[in-house]
Amino acid sequence: MLIRSEDALRPCQADSSVVLLGIPLDHNSSYLRGPRLAPHAIREFLRAGSMNWSSEAGVELGSDSRWGDAGDVLIEGGPGDMARIAAVAGDYWGRGQRILALGGDHSITAPLLRGARAARRSITIVHFDAHPDLYPEFEGNRDSHASPFYRIMEERLAQRLIQIGIRTLNAEQRTAVERFQVQIVSPDELYHWAGLTQETPVYISIDMDVLDPAFAPGVSHHEPGGLTVRDVLRALARIRAPLIGGDIVETNPERDPTTQTTAVAAKFLKELLAALLHRPLHAP
Ligand code: MN
Ligand code: MN
Repeated sequence: MLIRSEDALRPCQADSSVVLLGIPLDHNSSYLRGPRLAPHAIREFLRAGSMNWSSEAGVELGSDSRWGDAGDVLIEGGPGDMARIAAVAGDYWGRGQRILALGGDHSITAPLLRGARAARRSITIVHFDAHPDLYPEFEGNRDSHASPFYRIMEERLAQRLIQIGIRTLNAEQRTAVERFQVQIVSPDELYHWAGLTQETPVYISIDMDVLDPAFAPGVSHHEPGGLTVRDVLRALARIRAPLIGGDIVETNPERDPTTQTTAVAAKFLKELLAALLHRPLHAP
């Protein structure tokens, strides 16, 4: 069994256009554990009823039957997890469904996109993060949450990488930026970012530490000088392209006793879900 569905918010159908997928994995984190608890915490927050199911643009997600929640990928905390994530993602993408993944630490983005390799040739990634996550390896771990975008670009899983909110670029990662021709939009540059209008499908990856710790203290790596929640929502609205999927990663419930950060993750989940439902892929 590759998936455990008992925590799912609602059933997933074989023809669900968008599939929510929890990935409770944090053994590739370099500093603190905790993000493995996030898929359950975010679902619990949504189940509690403090937030309704309408998106800001008026998409009624509660009554929209085109999305479902598959539950969590089975995670054992070992090396087999990455292959299992790729296999599950590959099944959904191979059937033409889109995936919204709830992490987990950021290491999950690499196997998710390995799953997309067979289904689609050309992908642009828009990656929100305080950190570029472009180390060739980190502390000896090639699967580290500090390395997913090095793996992705090295394996040519995406043709273009746009990183938004970066404020920790060091010399080692600058080499990778040049090697892979990564486009970086700093927090200051974001105010003038024109956005993206294209037919090439886009995958959106949101690391919650892109936000200033004032807005999202429940993350492992506090990195001041970050974005507001509204900055992220405005940037998402400027991505005018078909969406293949996305992920929301690095919420750490162990640092989020008031659920402030979990609430933001739930908000991003709703807005990304609405965007996925309203920006479908064209036939390849
Ligand atoms: Mn990250
Ligand atoms: Mn980060």
